[in-house]
Amino acid sequence: MIAHNLSRVKEQIALACLKAGRSPDEIRLVAVAKGRTCAQVEEASAAGITDIGENRVQEAVLKYSAEALACGLRRVKWHMVGRLQTNKAKVAVKIFDLIHSVDSLRLAEAISKEAGKINKFQDILLEVKTSPEETKTGLNPEDTLEVFKEISQLPNISIKGLMTIAPFTDNPEGSRLYFKTLRKLSEKIDWKPVTGDPGSILSMGMSNDFEVAIEEGSTMLRLGRAIFER
Ligand SMILES: *Cc1c(COP(=O)(O)O)cnc(C)c1O
Repeated sequence: MIAHNLSRVKEQIALACLKAGRSPDEIRLVAVAKGRTCAQVEEASAAGITDIGENRVQEAVLKYSAEALACGLRRVKWHMVGRLQTNKAKVAVKIFDLIHSVDSLRLAEAISKEAGKINKFQDILLEVKTSPEETKTGLNPEDTLEVFKEISQLPNISIKGLMTIAPFTDNPEGSRLYFKTLRKLSEKIDWKPVTGDPGSILSMGMSNDFEVAIEEGSTMLRLGRAIFER
């Protein structure tokens, strides 16, 4: 089933890219596996998924553990897409290739410190709150440039781009404004000195709105239901 879903998703991505005049090679797909079993993750990996996302450290630890090793999951890259508490930074740097949800200098400092202890340069994204919803986490767009500058001074962190979560809506068009806001913000940042190339990651788009996200410049989609459910 996962393989079937994946091929359908890839067709949809290709179509959205065609419409937007972009190449599907520009887009990385992260399969968000929260609430899914180790076996499901393995099935996704067997179907060609190379990037797995989790939103809770505890759950990621379980899947990344010795058991997960038996499933052969070490071949995939691990992404933290959910809220990260400062006291979980130590575990997070051991597991994750990319942390999408950094939204404060304090959290970034904890990550950099723990990464330093294991001689790692931790790749991160800054999470931006592009919608006014009270419940959403993330930096205020107007604070982002300042926080970006502060975090880029930290020794063991490497900022690779920006991430946002649009409020859930049945109408994907409802997300467009938020994706646009993130892209415009990213265009204000001089990425070259930080990432080594002018481009940056834009992590935006979930199962309900990824086609709109592609039109608005997403380079990293985080898909859960579209991959794991029919
Ligand atoms: C769950 C989750 C996703 C995937 O959501 P779907 O709607 O299942 O595609 C993406 N990003 C984050 C931060 C999530 O928590």
